[in-house]
Amino acid sequence: MSTCRDITLTVLGGGGEIGASCFQVHLNGSSVLLDCGFHPKKEGFDALPQLERIREAPKALFVSHGHHDHIGSIPLLLRRFPNVKIFSTPPTYRIMDRMLHNSVTVMETVARERGIEAYPLFNHSDVKNAMQCLRPKDMDEPFMVPMDVPLEVEFLYAGHVLGSASLLLRTPDHTLLYTGDICERPQELMDGLAPWTSQERIHTLIIESTHGATSEAEYPSYEAELLRLGEAIAAVLRRNGCVLIPSFALGRTQEVINALARLQEEGLIPFVPIHVSGLGRAIYEIYDQYVEYLKPDANLRPLDLFERIGNVFDPHLLESLVSRPCIIVATSGMMFPNTPSAVIAERLVQETHHGIFFVGYLDADSLGYRLLHAQPGEKLQFQTGQPEVEIKLENIQRFYLSSHAFRNCLRRFIERVNPKNVVFVHGDPDALEWMRTNGANGCHTFVPNVGDTVVLRA
Ligand SMILES: [Zn+2]
Ligand SMILES: [Zn+2]
Repeated sequence: MSTCRDITLTVLGGGGEIGASCFQVHLNGSSVLLDCGFHPKKEGFDALPQLERIREAPKALFVSHGHHDHIGSIPLLLRRFPNVKIFSTPPTYRIMDRMLHNSVTVMETVARERGIEAYPLFNHSDVKNAMQCLRPKDMDEPFMVPMDVPLEVEFLYAGHVLGSASLLLRTPDHTLLYTGDICERPQELMDGLAPWTSQERIHTLIIESTHGATSEAEYPSYEAELLRLGEAIAAVLRRNGCVLIPSFALGRTQEVINALARLQEEGLIPFVPIHVSGLGRAIYEIYDQYVEYLKPDANLRPLDLFERIGNVFDPHLLESLVSRPCIIVATSGMMFPNTPSAVIAERLVQETHHGIFFVGYLDADSLGYRLLHAQPGEKLQFQTGQPEVEIKLENIQRFYLSSHAFRNCLRRFIERVNPKNVVFVHGDPDALEWMRTNGANGCHTFVPNVGDTVVLRA
C-alpha cells in the first residue's frame, strides 16, 4: 500500500482570483479534484479551468457547493473523463442538477441572441450524464474513496449556502482541509460556521479569501444592515416606487426574500408583492426539502408567498411589473448584461423614484459595480445590441449581507486549525495579499496562480 507524506497541488482554476475554482490534488500518481467551476467574468472556453492539463482520469471529484464558480464546468470534465465519481452533499446534488440544466438554457439563449458559436459548451444530456456519476454523501459521515493511497473524505458544514461544505481529505500521512466558501455569521436561514474545535492534525489548509481586503469593523452586523435595507425599501415604496434587488439565484435570493418577508411581518416594510425569478424559486423548493440543513429556528416561508417575475424581456410584462410599488429580487447578482436584473434596471434608471439595492459581491468590472458608481446623467448599456440609457435614478445603494467570512474570521480560523501549510485561493489580488501578510500564522504560505503547482510537505 502506498503512503503519501507530500501532496502536490495543481491549481487549474480559482488561484490569484475568484475564478473557475478547480484544484487537482496528486496522491502518488493518481489524483482527485476539488470543485470544477466556471469563471464568473469570462465567456466561452476562456471561462473553463485548465482541464487540458489533466492527463489521466481523476479518481474522484469532490464538490463543495452549488455556486457556478464551483460546479459550472463539471459536464465538460465528464465529457473528457466519463465515469469520474463525483461526491457532494444531498442538497448540493439537487442544486447542481437545477443550476447546470439552467446553464444549458442560458448558453442556448446567448448562442441565439449573440451568435457565440461555441455555445452551448455542453447540453442537457451532458448534464444528465454528469448527474449519473454523482454520489450524495451526508455531512460528518466519512467515506472511503477507492484508490492506491487510502483516502477518507468527510463533508463539514460551511455556513455559506444550503448544502455547502468544507472538505476534509485524510490519507495515512497527510490531512488536507479545503474550506470551499465559508461564512461564520448566521444569516436569515443558514447557521454560521461553528468555531473549529477539532484537535486533529491538519497538514494543509486551502482557504477561501473573498473578504481578505474587507475589515468587519467597517461594516454593521447582519441584522443592522438588514434594517438599513428595510428602511431604504420602505422609503422607496412610500414614493410609489419599485425596488430592484439584484441577487444570486442560490443562497442570497432565498435568504433575502425571507428576511424581507419578516420585516413585512414586523411592520417595517409595507406589504407589497415580493417578486422572485424562476431559478431562485426552483432552488427555493430545494431549500424547502432540506430544512434540516438550515438553522434550527429558520422560518422558511411557503414559496407561494412570493410571486413569479415572469418574462421581463416582454416589454408589456415589464411595464405592468413596475407600474405598482413592489420588490423584485432578480438574477444576476452582479447584473451581467442581458440578465433579468439588467433588463429591469434599464427600465428603472430612467425614472427618479425607484431604488436599486445591491446585496452581494460586486466585481469591479461588472455592470452592477459601474451602475453603483455612475453619476446621474451618465449613460450605460444594459443589453448588447441595445442603445445606452441615461441614468436618472440616484437611489442606487449597496448593502453588506455577505455570506463569506470576513478577514479576521479567516485569520482566527487559520489560528485554530493551525496547519503546517496554508494555501490562499478564491480572492482578488489585494485580498490574497492581506491574507498572506496578516493571516499566515507562521505556516508555510502559498498564494498560487492558475497553472501553478505547489508541493505541500507533511
Ligand atoms: Zn459560493
Ligand atoms: Zn465561490
